[in-house]
Amino acid sequence: MFVSDILSQKGTAIFTVAPAASVAEICQQLSARRIGSVLVLDGDGSVAGIVSERDLVRALARHGAEALALEARQVMTRGVVTCDPDDSIDGIMQTMTEGRFRHIPVVRHGELMGLVSIGDVVKARLEEARQETEALKAYIVAG
Ligand code: AMP
Repeated sequence: MFVSDILSQKGTAIFTVAPAASVAEICQQLSARRIGSVLVLDGDGSVAGIVSERDLVRALARHGAEALALEARQVMTRGVVTCDPDDSIDGIMQTMTEGRFRHIPVVRHGELMGLVSIGDVVKARLEEARQETEALKAYIVAG
């Protein structure tokens, strides 16, 4: 299975904020949309960074309640690791495990195509295992 298979299931919606968005706004977005991260886009649409729940916890631990007024650019991780729609799911699982992050934007030829979370990866792997089991059962019954 490939990253493109996940995108065809979940769609290509990506939630983004501007670098000047406040931490309070980001918390509202994450809560309302039931997601764990937002991408930070520059004015030209390029990826400037990513803010995940972990960055928010870190900012709160460091700044206390004042963290709510910080801007995305002050708490985001720069140098976002991305993947391609043709990458294998096993491959991005390895990338996420080694990089210790649970979100990976999908980019092709510089164009943002979606965002895959570790939850999407687990769901895809479970479905793959289910299909393999069904195929084996059918093979045994047919034999
Ligand atoms: P997460 O496990 O996705 O909540 O993220 C853990 C840490 O990795 C946070 O500091 C995130 O900002 C950062 N992070 C998340 N996704 C990526 C990514 N694709 N590339 C680089 N850093 C990331």
